[in-house]
Amino acid sequence: MNQKEQELRLLICDIGRNLFNKDFIAANDGNISARLSETEVLASPTGISKGYLQPHMLVKVNLQGEILEAAEGYRPSTEVKMHLRIYNELPEMNGVVHAHPPYATAFAIKGEPLDKMMMPESVIAMGDIPLAAYGTPSTEEIPDSLIPFLGRKTAVLLESHGALTWGKDVMSAYMNMERLEYTAKLTFITRMIKGERELPQNRIDELVALRSFYGM
Ligand SMILES: [Zn+2]
Repeated sequence: MNQKEQELRLLICDIGRNLFNKDFIAANDGNISARLSETEVLASPTGISKGYLQPHMLVKVNLQGEILEAAEGYRPSTEVKMHLRIYNELPEMNGVVHAHPPYATAFAIKGEPLDKMMMPESVIAMGDIPLAAYGTPSTEEIPDSLIPFLGRKTAVLLESHGALTWGKDVMSAYMNMERLEYTAKLTFITRMIKGERELPQNRIDELVALRSFYGM
């Protein structure tokens, strides 16, 4: 195993622990993947808590989802299909994270996208977080529900299910998940204190202009 693969395996395990410790996933939920090469993806296995992942547990699949390498007793999640849709459609994206963070999932269940432009960092980093239509897990329905957002977004709510984020590397995908949940939590809290207040349009325009400055 080369150094890149070793480091990537460790990073995926580390991200799993963070997702778990932040309550973004319960029990064996959620999954994490990273593109290893043009034809290979490393993915977390099914049926295992992502808070207790170890590097050897990760499975290697190709872009069609066929298993290339897996230690005995470990296999990819059926939800890997939505990860592979990202890798197949977006060659510049190299990491995907799926979780069920509670605030974001509450909005996903309600069917409400996170589209209030309330604070500068969120506007610069992400803009609105749309809602991808409900699909049955493990079918092609969830991957298909992502189609409208590919190339435009790096974070979506999955209706009545959870959230999916992606990025140029797996750390960016993870940070997008943190920001998504933070945005959901802030939306909830501001609504509780009747304090939801969007930035004025001219301020939003300024922030959107900064996005290109930061190369986003
Ligand atoms: Zn899920």
